[in-house]
Amino acid sequence: MSNSLSVDDSLLLRFWGVRGSTPVSGPDYVEFGGSTPCLEVRCGQRLFLVDAGSGLYNCGQHHRADLPKTIDLLFSHLHLDHTGGLPFFKPAVFDPERVINTYCGNLDGQSAEDALGRLYAPPLFPVTLDILPCTFKHHGFRAGESLTLEDGTRVDTILLNHPQGSVGYRFAHAGKRLCIVSDVEHTDPWPDPALMRFVAGADLMVYDGMFTDGEYPTCRGWGHSTWQKGVELAQAAGVKGLAIIHLHPCHSDATLRAMEADMQAIMPSAFIARERQSVQVGAVAAPRRAAPLVRIA
Ligand SMILES: [Zn+2]
Ligand SMILES: [Zn+2]
Repeated sequence: MSNSLSVDDSLLLRFWGVRGSTPVSGPDYVEFGGSTPCLEVRCGQRLFLVDAGSGLYNCGQHHRADLPKTIDLLFSHLHLDHTGGLPFFKPAVFDPERVINTYCGNLDGQSAEDALGRLYAPPLFPVTLDILPCTFKHHGFRAGESLTLEDGTRVDTILLNHPQGSVGYRFAHAGKRLCIVSDVEHTDPWPDPALMRFVAGADLMVYDGMFTDGEYPTCRGWGHSTWQKGVELAQAAGVKGLAIIHLHPCHSDATLRAMEADMQAIMPSAFIARERQSVQVGAVAAPRRAAPLVRIA
């Protein structure tokens, strides 16, 4: 017997940070934002966070007491732009009843504990994470395995081409599919068959578009891709919507708006993600334009 009225069928994605490599601020970054990667995924009421870049601060401030007592934080990998916000996830990390599960899949099964312990220790940081009142539980897995979380929820993963590796995630909820594929460098030939299978038929794919095809040749081997390669992958794999993140720090709002127009001429449902933008995955169409953070007169 179905009881669909009581089931939350929504799959919601919210971008708390979409900038790659280093945070930026100033008049050139008002519309797309300057915080580094942090994404909120809600499968019905079930919360996931992907990455703990500087955007995690605003995520914590926005939700405040609103977050569940147990939070699952999935790392794509541990480079600084994906981990630097962790101790600033306030007030969540100051709650002694809070458990934050971290999941790390690019270190041969090791958890993030040792790496975070080296990063968050003097003289690089004034204190260690264990001084925080919350409890961290660090889990390691191997990219490519499917994660089964404590409540039985499953998330599929894939190893991505990036220095030290990175992990792509696939969420499925109520017949909708969301794939988050960043940080990743495209390969030759492209699209990669395994990645194409992983994202096939997704309602939305979030993809690393740090460079343009024009910029890429001088940045080969840096572990990042282009919006054009994202469109190629999406179209080859029957992906319905495409969101570009890991925006280059030198790409201003004007540059990104022009890139988005070029991209939408090829794939109308594609867009460049704005910080704080929310997307209902599987809704009629991905939004072509999000409200800017602040409108400039
Ligand atoms: Zn990155
Ligand atoms: Zn990286």
